[in-house]
Amino acid sequence: MNAFTYHVPTKVIFGENTETQTGQAVRDAGGSNVLVIYGGGSAVRSGLLDRVTASLEEAGLSWQAVGGVQPNPHLGLAQETVDKFRDKGIDFVLAVGGGSVIDTAKAVAHGLARPDVPIWDYYSGKAKVTVTLKKGSVLTIAAAGSETSDSAVLTNETNGQKKGINTPFNQPDFAIMNPALTCTLPPRQTACGVADIMMHTMDRYFSVQTDNALTDGIAETLLRTVIEYGRVAMDDPEDLKARSEIMWCGSLSHDGLTGLGQPKDFSTHALGHELSGMFDIPHGESLTIMWPAWARYVYRDAPGRFARFGRNVWGIQEGNEERAALAAIRATEQYFHDVLKLPICFSQAMGVQDDATLRDLAVRSTYYGGRRVGQLHPMEKDELYLVYQLANH
Ligand code: NAP
Ligand code: FE
Repeated sequence: MNAFTYHVPTKVIFGENTETQTGQAVRDAGGSNVLVIYGGGSAVRSGLLDRVTASLEEAGLSWQAVGGVQPNPHLGLAQETVDKFRDKGIDFVLAVGGGSVIDTAKAVAHGLARPDVPIWDYYSGKAKVTVTLKKGSVLTIAAAGSETSDSAVLTNETNGQKKGINTPFNQPDFAIMNPALTCTLPPRQTACGVADIMMHTMDRYFSVQTDNALTDGIAETLLRTVIEYGRVAMDDPEDLKARSEIMWCGSLSHDGLTGLGQPKDFSTHALGHELSGMFDIPHGESLTIMWPAWARYVYRDAPGRFARFGRNVWGIQEGNEERAALAAIRATEQYFHDVLKLPICFSQAMGVQDDATLRDLAVRSTYYGGRRVGQLHPMEKDELYLVYQLANH
């Protein structure tokens, strides 16, 4: 069994009406002057923002709010928020929303703690986060797992680059998770969330040194669970049991548990981020487009792993390893397409692209030559280009 460090300091408060505990949770975490961040309006329309701020007031906390975070959140809003609130004594940043809002809150928390460092310096690799503010979330969509993760992703809208950073400073102090809040999600967002949850586990599961039996078992159970309840939620958006199971899968899929002791592969995320950065397509769609192409490109490196995935996640009993691996890829692709109704190739999303664009995407994926992508089959620009080519139909 491989060695690992597992440290998830985020307190999870899960269940119906838990948003009414927000004020107490902020207080317990030591916050008193709160900056609330929210998105494009769903939290206003549902009345959630009012319930949350009422809870802050009940707990005797002062607060101010900034709205307007959009999916694939922009650097501009995060930096403007830091510049506006840098002298206002904010000591807690509270996200009310999904991954885009939470990731903005993380960036703002880092920025307010060190306003002299431009936020993008952290994402471009020029600077390392060394200090941050306390932060937490009231989650409204099961997807990114940012509510418990050590990651944060931001898009620099001036150059179309979408970059993520991993640091313990990203780990939130608490996550309030009321699954009923996710019943208002449109089907496309539900589907994108399920795809992202699957991929946070699969981008860990398909890696090297996969030698922890319990970790593999947790990953496979999580995948079966999110696949099954994803199907239910697509049929009946108000099914609270399905919403609950998916929400908890979302947090555990990305807090490290499903990949303990093995290097994170994350090729599909790397390939997908550049699609979202260039074409502004939802994160979940970028993943369902890129995974089938990536899997077909690399499965020969670990056919047994893909066959096991087919057996334990999809119930594929085929004895021949190669055929089982290909059947597993096909089953995943069909679920993305037929059940989640998400695109599985370029033509179903942003359209087929020319060769120069594919090469540009490949170079961007390496952070302009700064990194190799993946662990199972580490790739540089020439191979990344071939993977993009496989998806370009
Ligand atoms: P999101 O981008 O936060 O939200 C997607 C859409 O769903 C928004 O239009 C939002 O509208 C709407 N929405 C949210 N909750 C809703 C509700 N309860 N009812 C109706 N509509 C609702 O979605 P996400 O998938 O959670 O986050 C995606 C971002 O996270 C991407 O940038 C991705 O790269 C990143 N990500 C981060 C991590 C990480 O660990 N940090 C991991 C994976 C992905 P409103 O704006 O109106 O609320
Ligand atoms: Fe993701």
